[in-house]
Amino acid sequence: MEKTYRGIVASPGIHIGRIVSFRKIDYISLVPDSCRVQDTAKEIDRLNEAFSKVMEDISRLIDSAPESDKLLIESEKLMLESMISEARHLIESHGVCAEQAVKRIYEKYREEFSRSGSDLIEARIVDLKDLASRIIEKLMKHAAGEEEIYRDSIVFADEVAPHDFLDMVRRGVKGLVTRRGGVTSHVAILARSYGIPYIILSDEPTADLDKRSKEAIIDAVNGVVITDPGGNTLDKYRKIAMETARMLEMFKESSRVEAYTIDNVRVVVQCNMGSLDEVRVMHEYGCDGIGLFRMEFMYVDRERPPSEDEIYSLLTKIAELSQGKEVVIRAPDIGADKPVKFIGPIKDPNPQLGVRGIRLLYRYREELLEPFLKAFIRASRRGNLRLMIPMVSTLDEVLDFLDLYRSMLAAYTGSRDESRVPEIGIMVETPSSAVMIDALLDNAPIGFVSIGTNDLTQYMLAADRTNPELQYLYNDLDPSVLRVVRNVSRASRSRGVEVKICGELAGRSRAIPILLSLGITELSVSPAYVGKVKYIVRRLKIGEIRDRIESLVTNASSYRDIEKAIDEVIGSKELLLLD
Ligand code: PEP
Ligand code: MG
Repeated sequence: MEKTYRGIVASPGIHIGRIVSFRKIDYISLVPDSCRVQDTAKEIDRLNEAFSKVMEDISRLIDSAPESDKLLIESEKLMLESMISEARHLIESHGVCAEQAVKRIYEKYREEFSRSGSDLIEARIVDLKDLASRIIEKLMKHAAGEEEIYRDSIVFADEVAPHDFLDMVRRGVKGLVTRRGGVTSHVAILARSYGIPYIILSDEPTADLDKRSKEAIIDAVNGVVITDPGGNTLDKYRKIAMETARMLEMFKESSRVEAYTIDNVRVVVQCNMGSLDEVRVMHEYGCDGIGLFRMEFMYVDRERPPSEDEIYSLLTKIAELSQGKEVVIRAPDIGADKPVKFIGPIKDPNPQLGVRGIRLLYRYREELLEPFLKAFIRASRRGNLRLMIPMVSTLDEVLDFLDLYRSMLAAYTGSRDESRVPEIGIMVETPSSAVMIDALLDNAPIGFVSIGTNDLTQYMLAADRTNPELQYLYNDLDPSVLRVVRNVSRASRSRGVEVKICGELAGRSRAIPILLSLGITELSVSPAYVGKVKYIVRRLKIGEIRDRIESLVTNASSYRDIEKAIDEVIGSKELLLLD
């Protein structure tokens, strides 16, 4: 039966193939607890021999790797050299066998790395473990590698070491799914440069992912793995897989540089993220900052809400990793489609219209809102962080939030100086906030506005965003949504208030010409879409299409009118592939 698993996209792309399960032998765990030698010189010779073999492997990999990766693999040589030199010393001084020496050195480094407090250094532990395991493997004279037929397959594994991955690439692997890993791990970086789609699962896989030769689809654009796809699913994916691969290559090139339209309008393309793993690769994906950091993911699977210090630690890491680029932190938007374990199911008769977002933060003010605000205030000095309120419906909600924020800031800094209050933005994702935007902006010191079209669409069309039966109604290109977006953009810009968009609409090819024509030039999209969005931006001349699109938004009577007109503007069916 067709089954879908969700996960984080570590490297974009789509492939259909057999699942090959991969289990790496951890040679470190095979080293006996005590192992001594008499002839230390002979033992050092054994170690040197293993060292040369691993070194040769690395050199071969460097030869076959793309230019951009050579440096990364080269760094393994340095790591290997220092491990071996310390291991030699240990054999000489303690008379331990070579396997034991390598294991001890690995454990020493592992401890040092995990104490470093830097996420980037911690992420290197996987590489270090792989290196130690391979030296020990050579010492134990085991044959290298598995005899699997990898050609055109999708590998499923708990985690994969860089060398195993490169070995797989050489054998023709076309997709990777792992249970653990990080999007900044060496493997993820390599997967992106080799164009191999890679998903790190967030759903717990059931036994069927472990069965070999099962047919599957890896859709590392939407972050899903589908096993046993049905005929319709297969047909759909076969068509798009080939085209997608070609387009992705073009988009990748495009993501690296700032985007300007043909008539020189600068468009900022930021990213929507919800985990540190994603933040680590924001620069690689070409994100011009983070337009929406969804805090609620930190709260989801916990028995208790995170403490102020935990939140502070996450926020400072984000600030550090974003290297001065703007990061918009959204206060936790819990409830409705984002329930959390420690609150349990919210017994609202209609959760989408119930206690969620800012409403829920007030209900749990001491447990949730205050620790979050304190942590934000402390962390905001560490980087370019901005704060945004979710699910605003009324002016009073904004004023209350700002009051609370000001008093907490004063308590923290000991100052009541109003000029030092950092700007706070609001999400416009309810019809009331969109319709009343003029009043909100005139009566509250709102620093910026970010339009959340995912919720705005469900509330405009009264169609639950999670209900598959209503997907025919739920369309963010519906003219009702676009007219409201235009209203919000006009009201904000006429008051000199920055306006952004962070709903999924911002990443849709057809939406780009519309949003730019409506004056919205700050888009926040899923990282996998940055290249595509920038690519489309570069092909547009806004001065030429603005009037036509303005009148389209005024006159269209259904989303079909919009789609038809925009398809002519974009003029390329291919660009609609990844929508
Ligand atoms: C939105 O509603 O458009 C949005 C960006 O927020 P979320 O999808 O997290 O509700
Ligand atoms: Mg929302």
